[in-house]
Amino acid sequence: MCQEEMKKISLLTSLMILMTGFYTTALPAETHCNVCSMKILENSRQHFLVRDESLGKEPLHICSVTCLHKIKQFNSKISNIEVAQFNEPLKFLKADKAFFLVKSEKIKDDAGSMVMPPIAAAFTTQKEAQAAQKKYGDGTIILGLENALKSIEK
Ligand SMILES: [Zn+2]
Repeated sequence: MCQEEMKKISLLTSLMILMTGFYTTALPAETHCNVCSMKILENSRQHFLVRDESLGKEPLHICSVTCLHKIKQFNSKISNIEVAQFNEPLKFLKADKAFFLVKSEKIKDDAGSMVMPPIAAAFTTQKEAQAAQKKYGDGTIILGLENALKSIEK
């Protein structure tokens, strides 16, 4: 009797594992932050891609500056980072060549409700960044992710 129950339980467990596997593959592909597991919307304006061979072939998805800090603490050698363009969130650009608008309070409303501050909005040109700075009326423009992160820390 006891063994029977054990069998039932193990059967149920394997069935559940099977079903979980089925559901995860059946659902449309979703992106989650590799640091905090939070969902990253496809058109998120704060979305970093970290490419590093030591971390595997697929790029890591990072949802925010906060999580980016965490991953850099974990592996300080990470340098190949891309960032979603604020004006065209589906496109990514090299983070060390991006112009960031940081320390803008008003940009938060446009960055999306899912986004965790501090916001580092990335633009392809200084002109674009200046246009955003003018639009929101605050913030500082900084070239390159490293410098932007440093300025946010202060
Ligand atoms: Zn995250």
